[in-house]
Amino acid sequence: MLIPVGFEYLKPKNLAELDEAVRDGAFLISGGTVGVRLLKERIVRPKLVVDISEVEEAQGAKQGEGIVDLGAALKIYQLQRLSVNGPVSDMIRFVSSGIADPAIRTMGSLGGNIALADPSNELPVPLMLADASLLIYGQHRFHEEKIRGFIHGPHRTGLKPGEVIVRVRYKELDGYRWSYKKHFIRNLDHYVGISGAMAKVDSGKIIDLRLVVAGEAIMGFKYLAPERAIGARPSEAIIKEVAEEAVSGISPKSDRQGPSEYKVAVLKKLVELSVKEALGA
Ligand SMILES: Cc1cc2nc3c(=O)[nH]c(=O)nc-3n(C[C@H](O)[C@H](O)[C@H](O)COP(=O)(O)OP(=O)(O)OC[C@H]3O[C@@H](n4cnc5c(N)ncnc54)[C@H](O)[C@@H]3O)c2cc1C
Repeated sequence: MLIPVGFEYLKPKNLAELDEAVRDGAFLISGGTVGVRLLKERIVRPKLVVDISEVEEAQGAKQGEGIVDLGAALKIYQLQRLSVNGPVSDMIRFVSSGIADPAIRTMGSLGGNIALADPSNELPVPLMLADASLLIYGQHRFHEEKIRGFIHGPHRTGLKPGEVIVRVRYKELDGYRWSYKKHFIRNLDHYVGISGAMAKVDSGKIIDLRLVVAGEAIMGFKYLAPERAIGARPSEAIIKEVAEEAVSGISPKSDRQGPSEYKVAVLKKLVELSVKEALGA
């Protein structure tokens, strides 16, 4: 079925209007890349659709005192052209450029990419590495939550009905190097594996190393800060140890994307490559 059931449609211009618009059972959309499909296929049948794409508090990007502050309504194509500086922002620009195709990047929003908590959605990866915070609004109040705690599992988040992500904030990680690797079977298909790494190395020693793995193989997002690497010199042995730790305990399903062992091997390779690059080893 490709025609949604009838619904009322509201497009609030700010959070005050959003408060008036949202009522029980309202279905929120921003770019609609997934939301409109759910409506068309009648997987959701709301009486009210609230389009949050023009809420003014969720627009624009700014940077001050080392903090980058992004509106959740920013489209992915706008993230490709972000005029903020630092390694995390560089990584976001890079990741955004590789998302899907121009149509999805034109419509899809930052907030939607996070809220879906799809293990193949990529923007949570740099944001988890940066320990970003989400400014969430609902029930007439704001609260802030770390993205690492916000995503509970595949397609599961801490969002309550009617709540919206308004802004995404992170501290730039000056002096860090980053690397991002992903592997997919076909373009626009789900990624078998994603590995993002950020590291700081000083005087030949590792000061900090952070890793996020995601994709089909993980069925979620896994954050690692391998303690044993801290203080060590970047080496093949450290890289292999970290890759082992990243894939330990995962047992992906064998399916059309490939057998389980294949997915684990791919992810391990991606981790090795990304950690090596981030460490400059
Ligand atoms: C064919 C296809 C290929 C794709 N490929 C990739 C890819 O390669 N990499 C990748 O990372 N992603 C990919 N995606 C996912 C895409 O990036 C997301 O669908 C998009 O970012 C979601 O944003 P949206 O504004 O369109 O969300 P919508 O479809 O409008 O909304 C999706 C859900 O998120 C909720 N939501 C939206 N905004 C907010 C907000 N601010 N606060 C709270 N909840 C909100 C809505 O209520 C809804 O439940 C792909 C999607 C499709 C359809």
